[in-house]
Amino acid sequence: MTFPFSKVVTVYEQLENVSSGNKMREILSVFFKIIPKEDLDKVVYLSTGSIASECEGINFGMAEKMVVKAISAATGKNEKELTTLFKKKGDLGLVAESIVGHAEGKLFVDEVFRILHEIAATSGAGSQEKKCVLLGTLLRKASPNEAKYIVRILLNKMRLGAGTMTILDSLSIAFTGTKANKPKLEHAYNICPDIGVIAHSLATKGLHGVEQISVMVGRPIKMMLASRIGQLKDINEKMPGTFAVEEKYDGERVQIHYDGKKIILYSRRLENITEQFPELVALAHKNLHAKSYVVEGEIVSVDQKGNLLPFQVLMQRRRKQDVEEYRKKVPVCLFLFDLLYLDGEQYLHKSYPERRSALKRITKKTENKFVLARQIVTDNIEETEEFFTSALAHGGEGIMVKSTALHSVYQTGTRGWLWIKWKKEYAQELSDTLDLVVVGAFMGRGRRSGSYGALLCAAYNDKKGVFETVCKLGSGFSDEQLVEFPGRFNKYVASHKPTRLVVHKSMQPDVWFDPVIIVEVLGAELTRSPVHTCCEEGGQGLALRFPRFLRYREDKSPEQVTTSKEIWQMYKEKVKRR
Ligand code: AMP
Repeated sequence: MTFPFSKVVTVYEQLENVSSGNKMREILSVFFKIIPKEDLDKVVYLSTGSIASECEGINFGMAEKMVVKAISAATGKNEKELTTLFKKKGDLGLVAESIVGHAEGKLFVDEVFRILHEIAATSGAGSQEKKCVLLGTLLRKASPNEAKYIVRILLNKMRLGAGTMTILDSLSIAFTGTKANKPKLEHAYNICPDIGVIAHSLATKGLHGVEQISVMVGRPIKMMLASRIGQLKDINEKMPGTFAVEEKYDGERVQIHYDGKKIILYSRRLENITEQFPELVALAHKNLHAKSYVVEGEIVSVDQKGNLLPFQVLMQRRRKQDVEEYRKKVPVCLFLFDLLYLDGEQYLHKSYPERRSALKRITKKTENKFVLARQIVTDNIEETEEFFTSALAHGGEGIMVKSTALHSVYQTGTRGWLWIKWKKEYAQELSDTLDLVVVGAFMGRGRRSGSYGALLCAAYNDKKGVFETVCKLGSGFSDEQLVEFPGRFNKYVASHKPTRLVVHKSMQPDVWFDPVIIVEVLGAELTRSPVHTCCEEGGQGLALRFPRFLRYREDKSPEQVTTSKEIWQMYKEKVKRR
């Protein structure tokens, strides 16, 4: 028996009623301090609306209908009545709260946690019934507000607004007395993106314990990202001397872990995608010769002749069913470009040339479906431009320019200046592409009536942990894509503005969405705007003018969209050039 769940949900109720980040941090840091050390990781996971780190890919496998059944079984209330109530309230958590009868809950954190894990682990024949029974045991002991949060967690609708960064801040304040140690926690989180492990190490071993966290084969590492520049010639300023130039392949990033027995593939969102690419597992076994490793590369789809195909084609491989059929229909190849760990040794702190040469050493080229990314090392912009042109001709998106300096370490989860990307859109005057998260929509008129006419899109302010709007996106969609809007977006409709979204009061879309779907958008330019909140200063934000939809980015999570800081840099760059 450990910490009472009732105390946890009391804090969740407080969090629901605050919108200020500082207030959230204050509530959470006071709370984290009073939780017994053995329960802290569980409470932290629950606060993010889950029961494990994101990369575990926990899926409760319970649809709303099943949850209604379970509430009905636990309370004796008729299913039809519950469904009507659900339609009225729009939130099954609120339905459970209004039905479940105990004044006081009798649940403890470890019990809630254990049963939720059992629900997630139950699969196969008769699993739906078993899940219902398990949920029933929880609901029978729950108070109304405990029932509300249990149901919301199960349906993935927690929406407390406390993102990972807010939790790291709060842990830092709770256990080190200051927010100033947050960067140390964030650094550890980038190597070990498991908020429960970070919380547990900090509570039991202090900051020193957190600093000891290192690469573990089998546990994904947050991937290094690239910055962008305004003009190709700026590379010389950012990277004096020689640098490496590689093709920027138009596919999906993958991190491959091998512990001597098993190979695991992780996506950029740190999901386990091993099952989706059995041929890459086989190729890694055959072509990478080492006792253990963590390497990275880009998966690209190819046609029968070996020509590279765009990212959209590859997206057909994102499936759990019909893997064999699609493996033949959409063949892929892999271009390797980094090495993070080799034979018991961490390589994150080594320079890029060292990492690349170790990668080269262990890669046996037996066929051209599994090779190193094409690279030149130069200090010359003209040569870089020529390489860029040839990369585009080869079907690439552009180039990646990488520092080869002594300090060119692998910066986990960071967008720094050691990697610079240069894409074909940047080469056009006044054109920029942004990855943005869709947070709302305006109903369409005329040809688009009955569907959405424009999507409200936001960037991510990683300092504040909030989303800030930057444009209304209405063009660039094909007729098929417009027809498909409701099917794609309606499951994310939210009853009110997402907690972590900052919008101007005049910006009132017809519907709000939970920030889930990411779009890549090409825009003409960035300008000052009084109605968008991105980089807002003195009542003026930044807006992307004439945005055009390019594609959906299913490989990115909402926190991986273009940051407000990047948009600010792009804007400054443009102003400088005018
Ligand atoms: P972006 O998604 O536009 O921020 O660009 C960064 C992405 O480019 C990485 O996450 C990789 O998926 C991809 N990429 C393609 N080729 C390379 C390469 N040679 N080196 C590093 N990243 C690459």
